[in-house]
Amino acid sequence: MNNPNKKRVFKKKTQDQVNIQEIAEKITTGDRGYLSKGITLIESSAVHHRPYANELVQQLLPSAGKSIRIGITGVPGAGKSTWIEAFGKTAVSKGYKIAVLAVDPSSSLSGGSILGDKTRMEFLAHHPDVFIRPSPSSGTLGGVARMTRETILLCEAAGYDLILVETVGVGQSEGIVRGMTDFFLLLSLTGAGDELQGMKKGIMELVDAIVINKADGSNREQAIQTMHDYNQILRFLTPATTGWKPRAHTCSALYNEGIQEIWELIREFIESTKESGEFDKRRSKQAVDWMSQLVQIRLNETFFNQQKKYLMKTLESKVRQNELSPSEAVDLLFNPKA
Ligand code: GDP
Repeated sequence: MNNPNKKRVFKKKTQDQVNIQEIAEKITTGDRGYLSKGITLIESSAVHHRPYANELVQQLLPSAGKSIRIGITGVPGAGKSTWIEAFGKTAVSKGYKIAVLAVDPSSSLSGGSILGDKTRMEFLAHHPDVFIRPSPSSGTLGGVARMTRETILLCEAAGYDLILVETVGVGQSEGIVRGMTDFFLLLSLTGAGDELQGMKKGIMELVDAIVINKADGSNREQAIQTMHDYNQILRFLTPATTGWKPRAHTCSALYNEGIQEIWELIREFIESTKESGEFDKRRSKQAVDWMSQLVQIRLNETFFNQQKKYLMKTLESKVRQNELSPSEAVDLLFNPKA
């Protein structure tokens, strides 16, 4: 007798496979609706969607990789969206197609996302050559990183040749965005106490440039002073990119001053790193690093099923109360006694 379930699964599978090919083809023609559809598939938390998402990325891989990927970080209020709006305007006026993405470390907690919000970028939001996608709003930071990396590839396959990835200076998110971009920029403000006092030395070692924004009106002089202070510190740090000396600059995103200079700076960076081979070397390393992160994610997902999560909680409580040593708890986690 025929198994009706088997038939249904087979039918569903072929339908999905046809769709993947169709989504991939439409994306390469630059169809924005299909691009959004593809990204939604990548962001899906349904386990059965994962193989299709993987298939889509694999199919689009040959058409991807040809963009310039720029990461932007800064505290809330530093002017990131204003800067992206100004920089994006310059880019589209030069004929670039740009995609604005975000990695928002708070989105997995709040379920919402401020970064990459269209309403914050009036001009870009309505431009036909611009695609804006807010941060994925579910999953762990590692999961969000995977989705954003794959979204970059999809956008590239759709013909976007400048990808801007925005993040806020919280925890690991800066390292994650550095790990998926070619050029990484810190947008800062005058005074910038935290960074200058060395509390954020870590971030300064990740950047290719620091831009002190809001260098306008009565703030201009102080911005120039802050730029000098940063330059003093940068001289003593190991550069993030071999052969490139990161420097501080000033700009006013609001009044569109200093934006063209940063455009030139990034152009110079891309030219020199492509010439030295550093550009390709970083891209290859990023792909391999990404693979090992995926292994970690997969191990976590497969190991921590519901049962293991429950056992982990019980063991944690015993460790907390000193009833069990941490090593013994780990042994029990891997080899639970019947
Ligand atoms: P974000 O949180 O980093 O994205 O910052 P926003 O782009 O939303 O900017 C925060 C505030 O700073 C807004 O009120 C902007 O108008 C203002 N702002 C941004 N750039 C500049 C600038 O270059 N000069 C001045 N004076 N204000 C700016």
